[in-house]
Amino acid sequence: MVDVIVAGGGPVGILLACELRLHGVDVVVLERSERPSPHSRAFRLQPRTMEMLDYRGLADRFREDRLEWPKAHFAGLSPLLDLAQLPGAHPYSLLIPQVETERLLQERADELGAEVRRGHEVTGLVQDADGVRVQVRGPQGPYDLTGRFLVGCDGGRSTVRKLAGIDFPGTPAAVTALLGDVLIDDPAELPSGVPGTTRTADGLLMCVALQAPVVRVLTTEFRPPQDGDDPVRLDDLRESIARVIGKPVAIREPRWLSRFSDATRLAEHYRRGRVLLAGDAAHIHFPIGAQGLNLGLQEAMNLGWKLAAEVRGTAPEGLLDTYHAERHPVARRVLQETRAQLALMNPDPRTDPLREVFGELLALPEVNAHLSALVAGTDVVYPPGPDAHPWVGRSAPELTLKSDDGHGRTAELLRTGRAVLLDLTGRGAFDDIARQWSGRVDVVRAATLQEEAAEALLVRPDGHVAWAGAAAATPELLTALRTWFGPARR
Ligand SMILES: Cc1cc2nc3c(=O)[nH]c(=O)nc-3n(C[C@H](O)[C@H](O)[C@H](O)COP(=O)(O)OP(=O)(O)OC[C@H]3O[C@@H](n4cnc5c(N)ncnc54)[C@H](O)[C@@H]3O)c2cc1C
Repeated sequence: MVDVIVAGGGPVGILLACELRLHGVDVVVLERSERPSPHSRAFRLQPRTMEMLDYRGLADRFREDRLEWPKAHFAGLSPLLDLAQLPGAHPYSLLIPQVETERLLQERADELGAEVRRGHEVTGLVQDADGVRVQVRGPQGPYDLTGRFLVGCDGGRSTVRKLAGIDFPGTPAAVTALLGDVLIDDPAELPSGVPGTTRTADGLLMCVALQAPVVRVLTTEFRPPQDGDDPVRLDDLRESIARVIGKPVAIREPRWLSRFSDATRLAEHYRRGRVLLAGDAAHIHFPIGAQGLNLGLQEAMNLGWKLAAEVRGTAPEGLLDTYHAERHPVARRVLQETRAQLALMNPDPRTDPLREVFGELLALPEVNAHLSALVAGTDVVYPPGPDAHPWVGRSAPELTLKSDDGHGRTAELLRTGRAVLLDLTGRGAFDDIARQWSGRVDVVRAATLQEEAAEALLVRPDGHVAWAGAAAATPELLTALRTWFGPARR
């Protein structure tokens, strides 16, 4: 029996495997495809994801030679969202193809010794009180694998979600989008050029330059999909372009053709017994605002340390259920926001006044800051409980620290994947805690030059603050330690 089976070796499954390996958990990733996809869906990592990669020392690998764009679109409106105004170390979108994100995550998984079995498809599952037996179709034929937990990271059509009987309520597709990575004979035929977006009464046409001379062409028509799962033909894209802009554009030599829609659904539960869901397996939505992958990666960071504690037997009662409690509302909010953006993009001329009003709102600093934080994922606050310090539930402030070991930042304290109790007074008030929670919580003494609202803070492995207050072992601190990391060692 392995500790955890992850179904799906997409970006979310691989990051989850990395997080589990950090804690020594025995994990097997079962991935249906024999080879990684050469095609990128996502092209952007958002600020909160970059902060989380930073916690594990990965931000620099992802940033290397890549563009950091301090802006983001909201429903294609002007002005743009200004990410540079956000607090934190990474106030920008990183422009990186999903293929590269997946390659870098796989590199990390290899370093941490995660076992990824390619060409192995999950076809069935049975769970009982002790574990989950998974049926697998592998290159050498079918076999069974048993794990203490199974996590479905197997995408929007998740087999795991269906087999576990988890409902996926939401709204069906009303919009059809076609995507083609193609060559364009004469880019001047495109009304808005490359890059550019054209909105007509019949839909949207968006073009972005990929590796020259390839251009990604996206059409969005506000009518339900007609062709089901049929493969997209180049002619389908040609016809769609002509319908949207009212004239043909010469495109050829497609590298990739695909379709997607605005079907928007959220798993009713992120956990059923020993089966959990993360990433697109738990939610689907129209890919506007570049958020689906980011949402999934942030779920992996929330789930990893909790599941590891459960497997290692150190998890307090109910810890694993906080995964659903914390992340389900975050996903619901992102789904609503993508619906709102798509509604604003509706080509019906009656939407124009709404766009105009919304453009005026975006120019107001407070509105711009609110929506920037929403798209960036930096506004997530987990329920802090009564009378908590204002930092509790939020991501830890980025402090410049000076300790006996040298200078550093809050993010650098989280490399190991363990929680950190940061004593900013240097008085050494936490020696007992260091002993009683050793292996689960690292106590760090450091001075900070910033004027701070707390003498000490307890930071969870995913960078959210679990407690903040005076540098003393108060009952509130002890409660937070027990709530998140289990009882003290005697
Ligand atoms: C056009 C487009 C643009 C997008 N742009 C962005 C963006 O800029 N930013 C962003 O954040 N998101 C974006 N997204 C969304 C993003 O691509 C997805 O949210 C992301 O890929 C989800 O990752 P995942 O690991 O959950 O699922 P997937 O990437 O779908 O991976 C699931 C994996 O599971 C495997 N699998 C499936 N079934 C089984 C099985 N039974 N057994 C074993 N393995 C199985 C699959 O082969 C696959 O490798 C975009 C999406 C589209 C369509």
